[in-house]
Amino acid sequence: MDPVQAEDGTRGLVLVVEDEPAIADVQRRYLTQEGFGVHVERDGDGALDAVRRLRPVAVVLDVGLPGRDGVSVCRALRAEDDWTPVVFVTARDDEVDRVLGLELGADDYVTKPFSPRELVARVKAVLRRHDGPPVPAVLEAGGVRLDEGARTVVAGSDPVALTATEFALLRALMKAGGRAVERTELMASAWGQADYTGSRTVDVHVAQLRAKLGEHSPIETVRGVCYRVPTAARA
Ligand code: CA
Repeated sequence: MDPVQAEDGTRGLVLVVEDEPAIADVQRRYLTQEGFGVHVERDGDGALDAVRRLRPVAVVLDVGLPGRDGVSVCRALRAEDDWTPVVFVTARDDEVDRVLGLELGADDYVTKPFSPRELVARVKAVLRRHDGPPVPAVLEAGGVRLDEGARTVVAGSDPVALTATEFALLRALMKAGGRAVERTELMASAWGQADYTGSRTVDVHVAQLRAKLGEHSPIETVRGVCYRVPTAARA
């Protein structure tokens, strides 16, 4: 069995921000069917926190939220130079006007009532416009070299056979450019979803990963809650 074949089953995590549970459920169901992981938040502050924590590939953002509304959430992200693509969900013409007034670049919107298929199509479209097909990189840190295209890992001079999950975790850590990565973000990278009740699972996989990389392992534990690869660089 090729240990890294199963890893591409997910298209990444989509953050759904919607205060109406029935609508959020429909969005979750259709996005999941299309291979996305889905995390749901019900208000704007939760949305901002989730974007920073989970780094979703895209955000489906209801404009009419309690408290901080969707437009304000998007402005706050852009002010932080966060250009995660957004698909707005609008309910009224004046909301459409506000969204269009943002000069959003890659972003898009659907108007309630929307067809779930249309929503999924919009998400895929903003992802295509956002960065096109990813270019595989060769990542190096410490004595470890990870080739995304060939899907191989070498520690020192020895090839290392990793499971799909171990490969995804190592890639996420090496791509973080020295930043400490929390367990929930690692889970989102490796499984396309964040399951807060099971975050110890990450520790188990990281322990196995470290054991396989042996003395060459570049993975540090930060404050007992995050992991970090300090000197990762793209070759
Ligand atoms: Ca709403």
